[in-house]
Amino acid sequence: MLSKDMINLGQVRSVIREMFEYGNKRAAEIGRENVFDYSLGNPSVPAPEIVNETLIDLLKNEDPVAIHSYSSAPGDPTVRAAIANNLNKEYGTDFSAGNIYITSGAAAALSITFKALAEENDEFIVFAPFFPEYRVFIENTGAKLKMVKCREDDFQIDFEALKNALNKNTKAVVINSPCNPSGVVFNEDTISKLAAVLSDAEKEFGHPIFLISDEPYRELVYDNITVPFVPNYYENTIVCYSFSKSLSIPGERIGYILISNKSTSPELIFEAVAGAGRALGYVCASSLFQKLIPVCMGKTADISIYKKNRDLLCDALTEYGYTLPSPDGAFYLFIKALENDANRFCENAKKFELLLVPGDSFGYPGYVRISYCVSTEQIIKSLPAFKKLADSYRNGEF
Ligand code: PLP
Repeated sequence: MLSKDMINLGQVRSVIREMFEYGNKRAAEIGRENVFDYSLGNPSVPAPEIVNETLIDLLKNEDPVAIHSYSSAPGDPTVRAAIANNLNKEYGTDFSAGNIYITSGAAAALSITFKALAEENDEFIVFAPFFPEYRVFIENTGAKLKMVKCREDDFQIDFEALKNALNKNTKAVVINSPCNPSGVVFNEDTISKLAAVLSDAEKEFGHPIFLISDEPYRELVYDNITVPFVPNYYENTIVCYSFSKSLSIPGERIGYILISNKSTSPELIFEAVAGAGRALGYVCASSLFQKLIPVCMGKTADISIYKKNRDLLCDALTEYGYTLPSPDGAFYLFIKALENDANRFCENAKKFELLLVPGDSFGYPGYVRISYCVSTEQIIKSLPAFKKLADSYRNGEF
């Protein structure tokens, strides 16, 4: 009578949401300030001033009808051109408006891209740990998600495992750097090597293999780390970008798809993307927020707060005996649980009011994610709880 798959998706709440709801319940019982909720990846710093100033300016000075009207489906042509020009200035590329399709955030960008590319029997390779919604978006197209685990010593790509996973059905490989949930950034060496492996696979299997670069955290990097611009390394690249985290506007739903002009038939890919957007019911992205992009692109919220949070947590957790991969970007730490079962570890953490997310849903059991996009006060106040949790394991209490 109804779609069983959709009922299932609607009924099963994500582990992250479960933890968040538990946090709300605990906050009502013991006070918000006594619950150390590290479950959600909602930016905790306000949007930069220029966001609100630009919105007010647009609302006051633009045509009152046009500003709230539908734009053309791929986005306002002047905004698409502005995005292309901005990228060209930043990365020395030569994109034009025709390479840009504006979306309602990275979630829409990803689901449109998967839908545009997927054919029967196709496989999309993702590196674990990965953003759990990839599975939902990929499987919704009828294609298969194939998981390749990152190396445990540094959470970089395990190239041998990747080579074993690539086959004639591989349509694309998805990367997310800086990564949710590991915080790891793929450096230039890794991206160059990945490009070489994929180029070899394209030759071997005789068809394009796309590299989908999911980039909601592109600007969120610390200590002068640079994030390689993937289209400059691999021709068949499609970037799924979002302003959610860089500008702290996740609820406004704005991002874009960039189809590299060097890719195999970019015009045809663009048409497939437009078709997928249409099939999925995306009429156009928010007109008001599209208009914001030319003014605010390249600006960020105050990410120094995230760096402060990261340093405080990292230093303390390392001192207490936790281990974690190098957290160069995004606002997540991925710590090794103090027992094999990360779910049980998270249950034990709750006894100290610490709400962490088990790595199982990210395809990486034995680890837990900490979202440090919270107030610095929460971090400082929670440190004794992390210490007590480690001590309890050391003393054999769990
Ligand atoms: N991809 C990753 C890795 C994410 O972490 C998120 C959101 O947290 C998204 C995509 C979706 O972002 P958006 O808010 O732009 O839809």
